[in-house]
Amino acid sequence: MQLESIAKKTMGLKSFRVEKVLVVDKQLNLYIVPRRRSLPVCSVCGRKRPMCDKLRPRSWRHVKLWGIETFIIYSPRRVNCPVCGIKVEKIPWSMGKSSLSMPLIDTFQRMVKYLSFNDAARLFDVSWNTVRAAVLVFFDAPAPADVIILLKNLAKNKYTSGSLATILRVQS
Ligand SMILES: [Zn+2]
Repeated sequence: MQLESIAKKTMGLKSFRVEKVLVVDKQLNLYIVPRRRSLPVCSVCGRKRPMCDKLRPRSWRHVKLWGIETFIIYSPRRVNCPVCGIKVEKIPWSMGKSSLSMPLIDTFQRMVKYLSFNDAARLFDVSWNTVRAAVLVFFDAPAPADVIILLKNLAKNKYTSGSLATILRVQS
């Protein structure tokens, strides 16, 4: 199986394709482009709309492939939606402004059910904050100060897992 196909499978791409894969400084970059003739989807109403323009390339940290740091590089399109106005398109691997890909967010969220934040961070060679960002990505507002303190305490205590369920209970 080609690297492109593996990347495609791990990201659930349909209207996008991997244009090229480059290894730069021990980092794997997956360059994604829209499929030809595929219309962008408005991120607000979810309908296909004509493209308005393209933004500068953005990068998302993705799940490591063969232990190599992997990033997704893509220039988001903006749509001219008659209902919502000019909006950035819906990007299937992206969640709002998070710089982590959805599959990576999902991986961290599953991991912290069994591992402490520190262990999850060590396993993936990322900072504790990256794990926290992945766990909190579904909350629009920044985490309240008491939640941050709780998360820090959980991370410090190696006998207590930074369980997602606990965090969700505190958040609600
Ligand atoms: Zn719209």
